[in-house]
Amino acid sequence: MSTSQVRVRFAPSPTGRLHIGGLRTALYNYLFARHHKGTFILRIEDTDQKRYVEEAEQDITESLQWAGLKYDEGPGTDGRYGPYRQSERSERYRTYAEQLVENGHAYYAFDTAEEIEAMRDKAGDANLKYDAQTRGRMLNSLTLSENEVKERIDRGDDYVIRLKVPHGENVQFTDIVRGPVSFETEMLDDQVLIKSDGLPTYHLANVVDDHEMEISHVIRGEEWLSSAPKHLLLYSYLGWTPPEMAHLPLIMSPAGGKLSKRKAEEQGIMVNTADYISHRYEPQALINFLAYLGWNPGDDRELMSLKELCDEFDLGRVSKSGAVFDIKKLTWYNEQYLRERTAPDLLPDVKAVLSQAGINLPEDEKLTGIIELLKERVSVVSEFAEQGAFFFSAPESYEEKALKKAWKEQTPELISSYKERILKLDDAGFNAAQLKKELETVIEEFGVGFGKLMLPLRVAVTGSGSGPDLFASMELIGKQEIIERLEYALNNAG
Ligand code: GLU
Repeated sequence: MSTSQVRVRFAPSPTGRLHIGGLRTALYNYLFARHHKGTFILRIEDTDQKRYVEEAEQDITESLQWAGLKYDEGPGTDGRYGPYRQSERSERYRTYAEQLVENGHAYYAFDTAEEIEAMRDKAGDANLKYDAQTRGRMLNSLTLSENEVKERIDRGDDYVIRLKVPHGENVQFTDIVRGPVSFETEMLDDQVLIKSDGLPTYHLANVVDDHEMEISHVIRGEEWLSSAPKHLLLYSYLGWTPPEMAHLPLIMSPAGGKLSKRKAEEQGIMVNTADYISHRYEPQALINFLAYLGWNPGDDRELMSLKELCDEFDLGRVSKSGAVFDIKKLTWYNEQYLRERTAPDLLPDVKAVLSQAGINLPEDEKLTGIIELLKERVSVVSEFAEQGAFFFSAPESYEEKALKKAWKEQTPELISSYKERILKLDDAGFNAAQLKKELETVIEEFGVGFGKLMLPLRVAVTGSGSGPDLFASMELIGKQEIIERLEYALNNAG
């Protein structure tokens, strides 16, 4: 393959938020383009006005940007194959559709939806296709006289242009992922190419643009595999060489079956890229995870940067079988990338999360210390608010199980003694090492084990039985607040 000529496109329809399956398709296109030093194009397939959602294009571009998938050509770039929105290219599609009519590979059809329905009713087959078997009974330019066709068009009757799919042929091609595939044309209907609103359907616009934009490889989800034979017929009738094709495996639910929106919800899986952005996932983690959803480098590496993925990516290693969305794995990836970040780097993100949760922000220095302590314990930045809540306000209640385990008869005595000791510490002395030392002195004095004081102390300070380093946490919370929390616990716990 000549490497300089790789041109691939991500061609979403702006019908809603960008699904993570769509993001994976974009990623594979991006990786393939970068690997071959080719061009990655964003094309907006917005010819379906009924399903058009205005904010969707912005959601798509913002998601790609967040993920680091920069496109070389697309809306807003000065690529020489533009415009990159199909709605701005309408005229071209009609020209090609008419060319197909002239060549005898397409025809005008005037049937209303009711007439098609009636044809099916009459035949007693609700699924009967508009195809080589039935088109002869319908109202189209194959059955009507030239004059009648012209008259109908001139007086403004609704019509569509349909592809004249041949009978009894076999369309074959070799998919890069799936290998040889073949389709009998009997399975296809006479696909509408131009709708009654004058706009092209996905099939025509997609083929015309892939050709005009000189796309070398079509890389898309498996759900489009059944459209490929229609596209190949179009390429052949228009006299064009089709691009190579690679259909990516479906993304599966851990419970089995395709990961639909409903199935995802049942499993607590978020399906929109925007959700991962608002939950402040690490973009690199999602990218690394998605790259492995249907592909791997063939060795035991798991963490790979975008750059490394570009170097290694190979469509030949993409698997045929569905890839299961393992949420635990995604969490693991996120933890790895989050922990690689330094506390100062995390600071602005954590501040945003805390502000969103209505928490008054402490000074940067203190917050950096808190981040340092929590960094190893949170899986996603958004968790800083909940896990860090006790730093910012006294616990409103105590975790029942922890309290039961921690608070024994002798506890108030131990806590009081500890409190008296730390009361005497001056500001500089109120540090983690000293706070630990004081605890050791108390347990020695009382002749009890470490946990006898440590556990209730943790519950009194944090409300919970587990958490980050307690003494470091206490140092950050500060003397006065700690004393108040201990007094409160002495009066209210137990
Ligand atoms: N517009 C189609 C989609 O929404 C593009 C499919 C293709 O890549 O051909 O996914």
